[in-house]
Formats: sequence, structure tokens, C-alpha cells
Amino acid sequence: MSFDPRDPYDAAALYDMWLNCSRCPTTFDFEPGGDINLDYYHRIGQQARQDKWAVLPARSKGDELVFNVLCPACALRLGVAGCDGRMELAAPVIDQICQAMREASGEAA
Ligand SMILES: [Zn+2]
Repeated sequence: MSFDPRDPYDAAALYDMWLNCSRCPTTFDFEPGGDINLDYYHRIGQQARQDKWAVLPARSKGDELVFNVLCPACALRLGVAGCDGRMELAAPVIDQICQAMREASGEAA
């Protein structure tokens, strides 16, 4: 498994650089270590999924990409625990960031 731009967990980790609960001050505390590349964000995203964080599929407001990120406690409280949304298409901005990171790390696109 590698970074999947259509996986909201991977996409949110990449786009937000970090996962913070949008309803309370909880921060997802996980440092995968190693090089900062797409795999790094993939590991953050998948760890958040395992830890039962909720990442609701992105909605674009104009050019702005918004992820609704909830810590496990808030996800449970709001009844969205276990929501495992998958975006139908990678948001263009995520594709662009992926592309830039692949180029920066010398990977073939
Ligand atoms: Zn929370």
C-alpha cells in the first residue's frame, strides 16, 4: 500500500500536514519518522484510520479544500465513528501536491 490521493485520510494528512480535531483541541499525535514524502503522509493517514479518527471527505469551497477531521471522542459523540468515506476523485489540489512531492523526491510521476 502506498499513498492514495483518493483516500481522505492520506489526502487530509498531506493537505493539512497534520490532523487536528475540528471540534476540540485534540491533535493527532503520531510522528512516523523517516523522510517527508508521500509515504510519510500515508503512514500518518493510515495510523489515524486505525486509531479511529474520522476524516470526512473533502468539500471544495471555491479553490479551498476543507477536511472535516474529528478525533475518536468527537467522532463517537457526533455519530460518525466508523465513517470510512472514500473520495470519488482526488481533488485537483491533492494531485498537484502529489505531483510536486514526487518531482521533489525524484520519483517518476
Ligand atoms: Zn475532538
